[in-house]
Amino acid sequence: MSNCVFCALIAEDEAVWVAKRADAVAFAPLSQDAIAAGHTLVVPRRHCDGVLTAEDLDLTATSVLVREVALAMLERLGATGVCVLNASGANSGRSVEHLHWHVVPRYEGDGEECLPWPGGRSLHQVNGDPHQLIAAQLSK
Ligand SMILES: [Zn+2]
Repeated sequence: MSNCVFCALIAEDEAVWVAKRADAVAFAPLSQDAIAAGHTLVVPRRHCDGVLTAEDLDLTATSVLVREVALAMLERLGATGVCVLNASGANSGRSVEHLHWHVVPRYEGDGEECLPWPGGRSLHQVNGDPHQLIAAQLSK
């Protein structure tokens, strides 16, 4: 996609690369956007706007690379865990409409006050049991 910042970055080979694989790449976010030392983005090489429309190959390739990056964070950075974050679709809060996973290392001493996890709670009410509704859709 011509106006996609991540597609441009991949095409122009302009990033602080962490890993390049056949179908997915990992790179550092802009320094002002990093929320922990080592915070890394993992994206498919092929443009897709999020998990809602991604092809299985892109989900698989990025998931495998997320795991590789996370394990490297534990091995080389001294991280004790990771938070893996994605936002897809309208009202999700995503900043770039190209599927991307934030892999955020967590370190001993990181408190809940710096959790990158969403702190708010939606007040939206669903008509019915939401998990039964999801399960019904998936059993079609
Ligand atoms: Zn793109």
